[in-house]
Amino acid sequence: MTRGTARPVSARAFRRARRTLVGGVDSPVRSFRAVGGDPVFMRAGRGAYLTDVDGRRYLDLVHSWGATILGHAPRPVVRAVEAAVKRGLTYGTPTVGEHELGERIVRACPSIERVRFVSSGTEAVMTAVRVARAATGRSKVIKFEGGYHGHSDGLLAKAGSGAATHTVPDSAGVPAAIVGETLVAPYNDVEAFRALLDEHADEVAVVVVEPVAGNMGVVPPVPGFLPGLSQAAHEAGALVVMDEVITGFRLRRGTSHETLGGNADLVTLGKVIGGGLPVGAIGGRARWMDLLAPEGPVYQAGTLAGNPVAMAAGAATLDALTPTSYRQLERTAASFERVLAEEAERAGIERYCLQRVGSMSTVFFCAGPVVDFAGAQRSDRKRYARFFHAMLDHGVYLPPSPLESSFVSTATGPRDVPTLRRAARAGFAAAQGGSS
Ligand SMILES: *Cc1c(COP(=O)(O)O)cnc(C)c1O
Repeated sequence: MTRGTARPVSARAFRRARRTLVGGVDSPVRSFRAVGGDPVFMRAGRGAYLTDVDGRRYLDLVHSWGATILGHAPRPVVRAVEAAVKRGLTYGTPTVGEHELGERIVRACPSIERVRFVSSGTEAVMTAVRVARAATGRSKVIKFEGGYHGHSDGLLAKAGSGAATHTVPDSAGVPAAIVGETLVAPYNDVEAFRALLDEHADEVAVVVVEPVAGNMGVVPPVPGFLPGLSQAAHEAGALVVMDEVITGFRLRRGTSHETLGGNADLVTLGKVIGGGLPVGAIGGRARWMDLLAPEGPVYQAGTLAGNPVAMAAGAATLDALTPTSYRQLERTAASFERVLAEEAERAGIERYCLQRVGSMSTVFFCAGPVVDFAGAQRSDRKRYARFFHAMLDHGVYLPPSPLESSFVSTATGPRDVPTLRRAARAGFAAAQGGSS
Protein backbone atom coordinates (compact mmCIF):
# COMPACT_ATOMS: atom_id res chain seq x y z
CA MET A 1 0.00 0.00 0.00
CA THR A 2 1.24 3.46 -0.84
CA ARG A 3 1.79 5.56 2.22
CA GLY A 4 2.78 8.87 0.69
CA THR A 5 6.27 7.90 -0.46
CA ALA A 6 5.11 7.63 -4.06
CA ARG A 7 3.66 11.13 -3.90
CA PRO A 8 6.28 13.29 -2.19
CA VAL A 9 4.72 16.63 -3.10
CA SER A 10 1.33 15.51 -1.86
CA ALA A 11 2.86 14.15 1.33
CA ARG A 12 4.61 17.48 1.92
CA ALA A 13 1.42 19.43 1.26
CA PHE A 14 -0.44 17.25 3.73
CA ARG A 15 2.19 17.73 6.45
CA ARG A 16 1.96 21.47 5.95
CA ALA A 17 -1.85 21.51 5.76
CA ARG A 18 -2.08 19.71 9.08
CA ARG A 19 -0.32 22.55 10.82
CA THR A 20 -3.10 24.95 9.83
CA LEU A 21 -6.20 22.95 8.94
CA VAL A 22 -7.82 20.50 11.30
CA GLY A 23 -6.59 17.10 10.18
CA GLY A 24 -5.25 18.83 7.08
CA VAL A 25 -8.70 18.86 5.47
CA ASP A 26 -11.96 20.78 5.32
CA SER A 27 -14.25 17.77 5.20
CA PRO A 28 -13.39 14.64 7.17
CA VAL A 29 -13.95 11.99 4.49
CA ARG A 30 -11.19 13.57 2.39
CA SER A 31 -8.63 12.63 5.02
CA PHE A 32 -8.41 8.93 3.96
CA ARG A 33 -8.92 7.85 7.59
CA ALA A 34 -11.41 5.21 6.41
CA VAL A 35 -8.87 3.59 4.06
CA GLY A 36 -5.55 4.52 5.69
CA GLY A 37 -2.66 6.43 4.18
CA ASP A 38 -2.32 10.08 3.26
CA PRO A 39 -4.86 11.96 1.16
CA VAL A 40 -3.85 12.91 -2.36
CA PHE A 41 -3.75 16.63 -3.14
CA MET A 42 -5.16 17.43 -6.55
CA ARG A 43 -4.11 20.42 -8.58
CA ALA A 44 -6.25 20.18 -11.69
CA GLY A 45 -9.11 18.36 -13.31
CA ARG A 46 -10.02 17.97 -16.95
CA GLY A 47 -12.84 15.83 -18.27
CA ALA A 48 -12.82 12.44 -16.55
CA TYR A 49 -9.35 12.93 -15.04
CA LEU A 50 -7.70 14.56 -12.05
CA THR A 51 -4.01 15.45 -11.83
CA ASP A 52 -2.33 15.45 -8.43
CA VAL A 53 0.39 17.80 -7.23
CA ASP A 54 3.01 15.13 -8.09
CA GLY A 55 1.81 15.09 -11.69
CA ARG A 56 0.06 11.70 -11.50
CA ARG A 57 -3.24 11.29 -13.35
CA TYR A 58 -6.35 9.54 -12.09
CA LEU A 59 -9.56 8.45 -13.72
CA ASP A 60 -11.91 10.18 -11.30
CA LEU A 61 -14.79 8.10 -9.96
CA VAL A 62 -15.66 10.54 -7.18
CA HIS A 63 -16.33 13.63 -9.27
CA SER A 64 -16.51 15.92 -6.28
CA TRP A 65 -19.02 13.60 -4.62
CA GLY A 66 -21.32 13.83 -7.60
CA ALA A 67 -21.16 17.57 -8.22
CA THR A 68 -19.23 17.54 -11.51
CA ILE A 69 -21.61 15.53 -13.69
CA LEU A 70 -20.13 16.99 -16.90
CA GLY A 71 -16.59 16.10 -15.84
CA HIS A 72 -13.96 18.60 -14.78
CA ALA A 73 -13.75 22.09 -16.28
CA PRO A 74 -16.44 21.54 -18.93
CA ARG A 75 -16.15 24.28 -21.52
CA PRO A 76 -19.71 25.68 -21.43
CA VAL A 77 -19.66 25.94 -17.65
CA VAL A 78 -16.19 27.49 -17.49
CA ARG A 79 -17.25 30.00 -20.12
CA ALA A 80 -20.43 30.93 -18.25
CA VAL A 81 -18.46 31.30 -15.01
CA GLU A 82 -15.80 33.46 -16.69
CA ALA A 83 -18.47 35.74 -18.10
CA ALA A 84 -20.17 36.00 -14.70
CA VAL A 85 -16.89 36.67 -12.89
CA LYS A 86 -16.06 39.49 -15.27
CA ARG A 87 -19.33 41.21 -14.40
CA GLY A 88 -18.72 40.93 -10.67
CA LEU A 89 -18.59 38.34 -7.92
CA THR A 90 -21.51 39.15 -5.64
CA TYR A 91 -23.89 42.05 -5.20
CA GLY A 92 -26.15 41.08 -2.33
CA THR A 93 -29.11 42.10 -4.47
CA PRO A 94 -31.49 40.10 -6.66
CA THR A 95 -29.93 39.05 -9.96
CA VAL A 96 -31.65 37.50 -12.99
CA GLY A 97 -29.41 34.43 -12.75
CA GLU A 98 -31.41 33.29 -9.72
CA HIS A 99 -34.78 33.02 -11.42
CA GLU A 100 -33.11 31.77 -14.58
CA LEU A 101 -31.74 28.75 -12.70
CA GLY A 102 -34.99 28.56 -10.70
CA GLU A 103 -37.06 28.38 -13.91
CA ARG A 104 -34.95 25.54 -15.22
CA ILE A 105 -35.53 23.62 -12.00
CA VAL A 106 -39.28 24.30 -11.87
CA ARG A 107 -39.68 23.27 -15.52
CA ALA A 108 -37.89 19.97 -14.90
CA CYS A 109 -39.37 19.03 -11.52
CA PRO A 110 -43.13 18.38 -11.28
CA SER A 111 -43.18 18.66 -7.48
CA ILE A 112 -41.43 22.05 -7.45
CA GLU A 113 -43.38 25.27 -7.91
CA ARG A 114 -41.07 27.58 -5.97
CA VAL A 115 -37.37 27.51 -5.19
CA ARG A 116 -35.12 29.09 -2.57
CA PHE A 117 -31.39 28.92 -3.22
CA VAL A 118 -28.85 28.40 -0.44
CA SER A 119 -25.14 27.58 -0.51
CA SER A 120 -25.11 23.91 0.51
CA GLY A 121 -27.19 20.77 0.75
CA THR A 122 -26.96 20.98 4.52
CA GLU A 123 -28.72 24.33 4.56
CA ALA A 124 -31.32 23.10 2.08
CA VAL A 125 -32.38 20.17 4.28
CA MET A 126 -32.21 22.25 7.46
CA THR A 127 -34.56 24.78 5.91
CA ALA A 128 -36.91 22.17 4.46
CA VAL A 129 -37.33 20.69 7.94
CA ARG A 130 -38.01 24.13 9.39
CA VAL A 131 -40.69 24.80 6.78
CA ALA A 132 -42.29 21.41 7.45
CA ARG A 133 -42.37 22.09 11.16
CA ALA A 134 -43.98 25.45 10.57
CA ALA A 135 -46.48 23.94 8.14
CA THR A 136 -47.60 21.19 10.51
CA GLY A 137 -47.10 22.83 13.88
CA ARG A 138 -45.34 19.60 14.93
CA SER A 139 -41.72 19.02 15.81
CA LYS A 140 -40.56 15.44 15.19
CA VAL A 141 -38.52 14.37 12.18
CA ILE A 142 -38.15 10.84 10.90
CA LYS A 143 -35.00 9.91 8.98
CA PHE A 144 -33.63 6.56 7.89
CA GLU A 145 -30.60 4.79 9.24
CA GLY A 146 -27.60 5.37 6.96
CA GLY A 147 -29.25 8.38 5.31
CA TYR A 148 -27.16 11.55 5.24
CA HIS A 149 -28.81 14.92 5.04
CA GLY A 150 -25.94 17.26 5.84
CA HIS A 151 -24.41 18.13 9.16
CA SER A 152 -27.12 20.14 10.91
CA ASP A 153 -27.64 19.16 14.56
CA GLY A 154 -31.06 17.58 14.26
CA LEU A 155 -30.04 15.28 11.43
CA LEU A 156 -26.82 14.00 13.03
CA ALA A 157 -28.87 11.36 14.79
CA LYS A 158 -28.59 7.62 14.78
CA ALA A 159 -30.60 4.77 16.20
CA GLY A 160 -29.64 3.91 19.76
CA SER A 161 -28.76 0.34 20.61
CA GLY A 162 -31.70 -0.09 22.98
CA ALA A 163 -35.36 0.45 22.18
CA ALA A 164 -36.26 0.81 18.52
CA THR A 165 -37.26 4.44 18.79
CA HIS A 166 -34.39 5.62 20.97
CA THR A 167 -32.20 8.10 19.09
CA VAL A 168 -28.72 9.26 20.05
CA PRO A 169 -26.42 12.00 18.68
CA ASP A 170 -24.16 10.93 15.83
CA SER A 171 -21.62 13.62 16.78
CA ALA A 172 -20.21 15.12 19.92
CA GLY A 173 -21.60 18.57 20.57
CA VAL A 174 -25.10 17.69 19.45
CA PRO A 175 -27.54 17.97 22.37
CA ALA A 176 -29.56 14.86 23.18
CA ALA A 177 -32.61 17.12 23.42
CA ILE A 178 -32.21 18.10 19.77
CA VAL A 179 -31.81 14.58 18.39
CA GLY A 180 -34.62 13.60 20.73
CA GLU A 181 -36.82 15.29 18.13
CA THR A 182 -35.46 12.96 15.44
CA LEU A 183 -36.63 9.37 15.02
CA VAL A 184 -34.65 6.86 13.01
CA ALA A 185 -36.17 4.01 10.99
CA PRO A 186 -34.43 1.32 8.93
CA TYR A 187 -34.25 2.13 5.20
CA ASN A 188 -36.45 0.07 2.88
CA ASP A 189 -38.80 -1.07 5.66
CA VAL A 190 -42.25 0.49 5.30
CA GLU A 191 -43.70 -1.55 8.17
CA ALA A 192 -41.09 -0.31 10.64
CA PHE A 193 -41.71 3.21 9.41
CA ARG A 194 -45.48 2.86 9.89
CA ALA A 195 -44.97 1.49 13.38
CA LEU A 196 -42.78 4.47 14.28
CA LEU A 197 -45.39 6.87 12.87
CA ASP A 198 -48.16 5.15 14.81
CA GLU A 199 -46.20 5.38 18.01
CA HIS A 200 -45.73 9.13 17.53
CA ALA A 201 -49.08 9.99 16.00
CA ASP A 202 -49.69 13.76 15.82
CA GLU A 203 -46.06 14.57 16.63
CA VAL A 204 -44.30 13.87 13.36
CA ALA A 205 -43.80 16.96 11.19
CA VAL A 206 -41.76 15.44 8.42
CA VAL A 207 -39.98 12.43 7.01
CA VAL A 208 -36.69 13.05 5.21
CA VAL A 209 -35.45 10.42 2.79
CA GLU A 210 -32.97 9.93 -0.04
CA PRO A 211 -35.01 8.39 -2.88
CA VAL A 212 -31.93 6.35 -3.74
CA ALA A 213 -29.66 6.11 -0.71
CA GLY A 214 -26.18 7.27 -1.68
CA ASN A 215 -24.44 7.87 1.62
CA MET A 216 -24.26 4.30 2.92
CA GLY A 217 -23.04 3.24 -0.47
CA VAL A 218 -25.68 3.02 -3.17
CA VAL A 219 -28.84 1.35 -1.85
CA PRO A 220 -31.84 1.57 -4.18
CA PRO A 221 -35.33 1.74 -2.70
CA VAL A 222 -37.16 -1.60 -2.83
CA PRO A 223 -40.43 -1.50 -4.78
CA GLY A 224 -43.14 -0.07 -2.57
CA PHE A 225 -40.84 1.71 -0.14
CA LEU A 226 -41.17 5.29 -1.41
CA PRO A 227 -44.89 5.04 -2.27
CA GLY A 228 -45.58 3.33 1.05
CA LEU A 229 -43.73 5.85 3.17
CA SER A 230 -45.20 8.80 1.26
CA GLN A 231 -48.72 7.51 1.75
CA ALA A 232 -48.23 6.65 5.41
CA ALA A 233 -46.67 10.06 6.13
CA HIS A 234 -49.49 11.91 4.41
CA GLU A 235 -52.14 9.85 6.20
CA ALA A 236 -50.47 10.84 9.46
CA GLY A 237 -50.49 14.53 8.50
CA ALA A 238 -46.70 14.71 8.06
CA LEU A 239 -44.85 16.19 5.10
CA VAL A 240 -42.37 14.31 2.93
CA VAL A 241 -38.97 15.79 2.06
CA MET A 242 -37.21 13.97 -0.74
CA ASP A 243 -33.53 14.71 -0.31
CA GLU A 244 -32.35 14.74 -3.90
CA VAL A 245 -29.04 16.49 -3.25
CA ILE A 246 -27.30 13.59 -5.03
CA THR A 247 -30.08 12.22 -7.24
CA GLY A 248 -31.53 15.50 -8.52
CA PHE A 249 -30.48 15.99 -12.17
CA ARG A 250 -28.08 13.04 -11.77
CA LEU A 251 -30.39 10.14 -12.61
CA ARG A 252 -32.58 12.07 -15.03
CA ARG A 253 -33.42 15.64 -15.85
CA GLY A 254 -35.16 16.84 -12.70
CA THR A 255 -35.96 14.84 -9.60
CA SER A 256 -36.12 11.06 -9.49
CA HIS A 257 -38.57 10.29 -6.67
CA GLU A 258 -41.66 10.43 -8.94
CA THR A 259 -40.37 7.66 -11.17
CA LEU A 260 -39.74 5.58 -8.04
CA GLY A 261 -43.27 6.15 -6.71
CA GLY A 262 -42.47 8.81 -4.11
CA ASN A 263 -44.71 11.79 -3.43
CA ALA A 264 -42.81 14.84 -2.13
CA ASP A 265 -44.06 18.01 -0.50
CA LEU A 266 -40.58 19.49 -0.44
CA VAL A 267 -37.42 18.58 -2.30
CA THR A 268 -33.81 19.43 -1.57
CA LEU A 269 -31.21 19.79 -4.31
CA GLY A 270 -27.48 20.48 -4.40
CA LYS A 271 -24.32 19.04 -5.99
CA VAL A 272 -25.24 18.79 -9.73
CA ILE A 273 -27.34 21.98 -9.78
CA GLY A 274 -24.31 24.04 -8.74
CA GLY A 275 -22.12 22.71 -11.54
CA GLY A 276 -19.15 22.55 -9.14
CA LEU A 277 -19.88 25.73 -7.20
CA PRO A 278 -21.54 25.87 -3.77
CA VAL A 279 -25.30 25.72 -4.35
CA GLY A 280 -28.20 24.08 -2.58
CA ALA A 281 -31.92 24.55 -3.11
CA ILE A 282 -35.20 23.88 -1.40
CA GLY A 283 -38.16 23.44 -3.71
CA GLY A 284 -41.76 22.42 -3.42
CA ARG A 285 -45.38 23.41 -3.60
CA ALA A 286 -45.95 27.15 -3.30
CA ARG A 287 -48.32 26.40 -0.44
CA TRP A 288 -45.36 25.28 1.70
CA MET A 289 -42.55 27.28 0.14
CA ASP A 290 -44.40 30.56 0.66
CA LEU A 291 -44.09 29.99 4.40
CA LEU A 292 -40.51 31.22 3.97
CA ALA A 293 -39.61 34.85 4.65
CA PRO A 294 -40.38 37.35 3.19
CA GLU A 295 -43.74 35.77 2.21
CA GLY A 296 -44.20 33.88 5.44
CA PRO A 297 -43.07 33.51 9.04
CA VAL A 298 -40.20 31.01 8.55
CA TYR A 299 -36.87 32.83 8.73
CA GLN A 300 -34.06 31.84 6.38
CA ALA A 301 -31.33 33.91 4.72
CA GLY A 302 -27.85 33.83 3.19
CA THR A 303 -25.24 36.48 2.39
CA LEU A 304 -24.06 34.58 -0.68
CA ALA A 305 -27.28 32.66 -1.40
CA GLY A 306 -28.02 32.75 -5.13
CA ASN A 307 -24.49 33.97 -5.82
CA PRO A 308 -24.33 35.10 -9.47
CA VAL A 309 -21.25 33.03 -10.35
CA ALA A 310 -22.75 29.89 -8.81
CA MET A 311 -26.10 30.50 -10.56
CA ALA A 312 -24.30 30.85 -13.90
CA ALA A 313 -22.44 27.57 -13.34
CA GLY A 314 -25.69 25.83 -12.41
CA ALA A 315 -27.65 27.10 -15.40
CA ALA A 316 -24.86 26.25 -17.85
CA THR A 317 -24.66 22.74 -16.36
CA LEU A 318 -28.39 22.11 -16.64
CA ASP A 319 -28.37 23.44 -20.21
CA ALA A 320 -25.59 21.04 -21.16
CA LEU A 321 -27.46 18.03 -19.75
CA THR A 322 -29.48 16.57 -22.62
CA PRO A 323 -31.36 13.26 -22.92
CA THR A 324 -28.23 12.01 -24.70
CA SER A 325 -26.17 12.87 -21.60
CA TYR A 326 -28.27 10.58 -19.45
CA ARG A 327 -28.15 7.75 -21.99
CA GLN A 328 -24.39 8.17 -22.13
CA LEU A 329 -24.05 8.15 -18.33
CA GLU A 330 -26.08 4.94 -18.18
CA ARG A 331 -24.02 3.28 -20.93
CA THR A 332 -20.71 4.22 -19.34
CA ALA A 333 -21.76 3.15 -15.86
CA ALA A 334 -23.16 -0.15 -17.17
CA SER A 335 -19.93 -0.92 -19.01
CA PHE A 336 -17.90 -0.09 -15.88
CA GLU A 337 -20.14 -2.39 -13.85
CA ARG A 338 -19.45 -5.24 -16.29
CA VAL A 339 -15.69 -4.64 -16.19
CA LEU A 340 -15.67 -4.66 -12.39
CA ALA A 341 -17.81 -7.82 -12.22
CA GLU A 342 -15.50 -9.59 -14.68
CA GLU A 343 -12.38 -8.62 -12.79
CA ALA A 344 -13.91 -9.51 -9.41
CA GLU A 345 -14.77 -12.92 -10.74
CA ARG A 346 -11.36 -13.37 -12.31
CA ALA A 347 -9.75 -12.61 -8.94
CA GLY A 348 -12.04 -15.11 -7.27
CA ILE A 349 -13.74 -12.57 -5.01
CA GLU A 350 -16.65 -14.40 -3.50
CA ARG A 351 -18.40 -11.82 -1.41
CA TYR A 352 -18.88 -9.03 -3.90
CA CYS A 353 -21.86 -6.97 -4.86
CA LEU A 354 -21.91 -3.92 -7.08
CA GLN A 355 -25.03 -1.81 -6.61
CA ARG A 356 -25.77 0.76 -9.23
CA VAL A 357 -28.51 3.18 -10.14
CA GLY A 358 -27.64 5.09 -13.30
CA SER A 359 -24.30 6.83 -12.87
CA MET A 360 -24.01 6.20 -9.12
CA SER A 361 -22.61 2.92 -7.84
CA THR A 362 -20.84 1.19 -4.97
CA VAL A 363 -18.69 -1.91 -4.72
CA PHE A 364 -19.63 -3.75 -1.52
CA PHE A 365 -17.35 -6.53 -0.35
CA CYS A 366 -20.19 -8.65 1.00
CA ALA A 367 -22.93 -10.81 -0.41
CA GLY A 368 -25.74 -8.75 -1.88
CA PRO A 369 -28.20 -7.32 -2.18
CA VAL A 370 -27.58 -4.60 0.40
CA VAL A 371 -30.96 -3.11 1.33
CA ASP A 372 -30.20 -1.14 4.48
CA PHE A 373 -27.50 0.29 6.73
CA ALA A 374 -27.01 -2.92 8.69
CA GLY A 375 -26.40 -4.69 5.39
CA ALA A 376 -24.02 -2.00 4.14
CA GLN A 377 -21.96 -2.36 7.28
CA ARG A 378 -21.28 -5.99 6.45
CA SER A 379 -19.04 -4.82 3.59
CA ASP A 380 -15.46 -5.82 4.42
CA ARG A 381 -13.69 -2.51 5.14
CA LYS A 382 -10.20 -3.98 5.04
CA ARG A 383 -10.79 -5.46 1.63
CA TYR A 384 -12.17 -2.15 0.43
CA ALA A 385 -9.09 -0.32 1.75
CA ARG A 386 -6.75 -2.66 -0.14
CA PHE A 387 -8.91 -2.39 -3.27
CA PHE A 388 -8.95 1.40 -2.96
CA HIS A 389 -5.16 1.77 -2.64
CA ALA A 390 -4.36 -0.60 -5.48
CA MET A 391 -6.84 1.22 -7.71
CA LEU A 392 -5.32 4.54 -6.66
CA ASP A 393 -1.81 3.35 -7.47
CA HIS A 394 -3.06 2.24 -10.87
CA GLY A 395 -4.63 5.58 -11.64
CA VAL A 396 -8.26 5.31 -10.54
CA TYR A 397 -9.58 7.60 -7.83
CA LEU A 398 -12.40 5.93 -5.85
CA PRO A 399 -14.19 7.33 -2.81
CA PRO A 400 -11.78 7.02 0.14
CA SER A 401 -14.47 5.31 2.20
CA PRO A 402 -16.30 2.00 1.69
CA LEU A 403 -19.75 3.45 2.27
CA GLU A 404 -19.89 6.16 -0.37
CA SER A 405 -21.11 6.32 -3.93
CA SER A 406 -18.85 6.40 -6.98
CA PHE A 407 -19.84 8.59 -9.89
CA VAL A 408 -19.12 8.73 -13.58
CA SER A 409 -19.54 11.91 -15.60
CA THR A 410 -20.52 12.61 -19.19
CA ALA A 411 -16.78 13.04 -19.83
CA THR A 412 -16.17 9.43 -18.77
CA GLY A 413 -16.52 6.93 -21.60
CA PRO A 414 -15.45 3.81 -23.50
CA ARG A 415 -11.87 5.03 -23.90
CA ASP A 416 -11.47 4.88 -20.11
CA VAL A 417 -12.36 1.19 -19.91
CA PRO A 418 -8.77 -0.08 -20.33
CA THR A 419 -7.59 2.15 -17.46
CA LEU A 420 -10.41 0.89 -15.29
CA ARG A 421 -9.76 -2.75 -16.21
CA ARG A 422 -6.03 -2.54 -15.48
CA ALA A 423 -6.65 -0.89 -12.12
CA ALA A 424 -9.50 -3.22 -11.22
CA ARG A 425 -7.34 -6.27 -11.94
CA ALA A 426 -4.76 -4.98 -9.46
CA GLY A 427 -7.46 -3.78 -7.08
CA PHE A 428 -9.31 -7.08 -6.77
CA ALA A 429 -6.04 -9.01 -6.54
CA ALA A 430 -5.05 -6.78 -3.61
CA ALA A 431 -8.50 -7.10 -2.05
CA GLN A 432 -8.25 -10.87 -2.31
CA GLY A 433 -4.71 -11.06 -0.96
CA GLY A 434 -3.79 -10.19 2.58
CA SER A 435 -5.66 -11.38 5.64
CA SER A 436 -9.07 -10.09 6.49
C1 LIG B 1 -24.11 15.83 0.07
C2 LIG B 1 -25.46 15.64 0.67
C3 LIG B 1 -26.03 16.57 1.55
C4 LIG B 1 -25.25 17.74 2.10
O1 LIG B 1 -24.86 18.63 1.11
P1 LIG B 1 -23.62 19.62 1.42
O2 LIG B 1 -23.59 20.50 0.22
O3 LIG B 1 -22.43 18.75 1.59
O4 LIG B 1 -23.95 20.35 2.67
C5 LIG B 1 -27.33 16.40 1.94
N1 LIG B 1 -28.05 15.34 1.51
C6 LIG B 1 -27.54 14.42 0.69
C7 LIG B 1 -28.39 13.29 0.24
C8 LIG B 1 -26.22 14.52 0.27
O5 LIG B 1 -25.69 13.56 -0.51
